[in-house]
Amino acid sequence: MKTGHTHLFIPGPTNVPDDVRRAMNVPMQDQRAPDFGALTLGLIADLRPVFGTTSADVLLYPGSGTGAWEAALTNTLSPGDKVLMARHGQFSVLWVDMAQRLGFDVEVMDRPWGEGTPVAAFAERLAADKDHHIKGVFVTHNETATGVTSDVAGVRAALDACGHPALLFVDGVSSIASLPFRMDDWGVDLAVTGSQKGLMCPAGLGILAVSEKAVEASKTARSYRCYFDMGDMRRMMADGYFPYTPPAQLLHGMRAALDRIKAEGLDQVFARHHRLAEGVRKGVAAWGLTLCAAEPALWSDTVSAIRVPESVDARDVIRIAYARYNTSLGSGLSQLAGKVFRIGHLGDLNEGMVLAALGVAELSLHEAGYPISFGSGVGAAQAHFAHAAGSARMAAE
Ligand SMILES: *Cc1c(COP(=O)(O)O)cnc(C)c1O
Repeated sequence: MKTGHTHLFIPGPTNVPDDVRRAMNVPMQDQRAPDFGALTLGLIADLRPVFGTTSADVLLYPGSGTGAWEAALTNTLSPGDKVLMARHGQFSVLWVDMAQRLGFDVEVMDRPWGEGTPVAAFAERLAADKDHHIKGVFVTHNETATGVTSDVAGVRAALDACGHPALLFVDGVSSIASLPFRMDDWGVDLAVTGSQKGLMCPAGLGILAVSEKAVEASKTARSYRCYFDMGDMRRMMADGYFPYTPPAQLLHGMRAALDRIKAEGLDQVFARHHRLAEGVRKGVAAWGLTLCAAEPALWSDTVSAIRVPESVDARDVIRIAYARYNTSLGSGLSQLAGKVFRIGHLGDLNEGMVLAALGVAELSLHEAGYPISFGSGVGAAQAHFAHAAGSARMAAE
């Protein structure tokens, strides 16, 4: 018999706040009613600042982040188009796989897992592509498998430096609404997220923001698409309606989630994610463990992938945390299985929850055979949080 909450410290789905859950407990309604469109249009207006755009079209597709990936690709590219992608973690692996299966000519740069998008190598390749064969450049903004945040602005600069017209595609599924995302400043053409990570809702929506340039490309792109067709979606969504039945409850949940983000303030949301992530990182360092991310500049403020020594199987850590302590930690995906466990620290989270994650991780690491000094990680995080609270008090005075 399990008692209390099952702690959810995976990088998605994330914890759904109680008011978001309650907001979804509404009767079914007519999605063609005259007042339904206002609900959707309100969401789109409040999603734009979250994406860092004032003008992009924001499209809400029933589905998940992966569906929005597919929408981005099939609406703007034609079969055989050359695209430039990097593989440095499980999510970038899956994106490459999708692009290949959809029939694009994918030029892949493989990098060790734990590294970010290879901006310099992209810049070199783009500069050499004088005839502009490359139609799309892809960035996984936050590689959730490795806890690595990449430099989207750097890729934009690489495109601009050689006047390259390729579309810039960004997977922001585990960054948008948690990390600063500046679609307009970075000249992102297609930005993808889902409802169940930074946006604190259940899974069920793939959200795609598209620039004017991407909309233009969609008018001549020849990939087959139907359910995800951007033309149908844009036509209907201009008035807040959908080309098919929308998940209305989820839209009400999204309304409540965006109200929370507005009330906290986007900058405060980002600052909180950074503070909580720093607490986790202080804890990891105090344990004598390291992150998968190759260098501090790549550290993700939404998820930490924590390496365990070879004598320990990270799968044991996760199993013990779940079986004995009612706590879900993130697993090591694919080639990282057994080598890392992950703590997701995004969405509706606070200091107490992070301390619980670290405390349970300590117990589980101990039982999995890692010699840990109890409280070391928790204490390091507490010291960080106390210091941050002190600084905030001083700033307020
Ligand atoms: C979760 C995630 C995805 C997949 O999204 P789904 O909503 O599960 O389809 C894609 N990319 C990244 C970076 C993710 O974190």
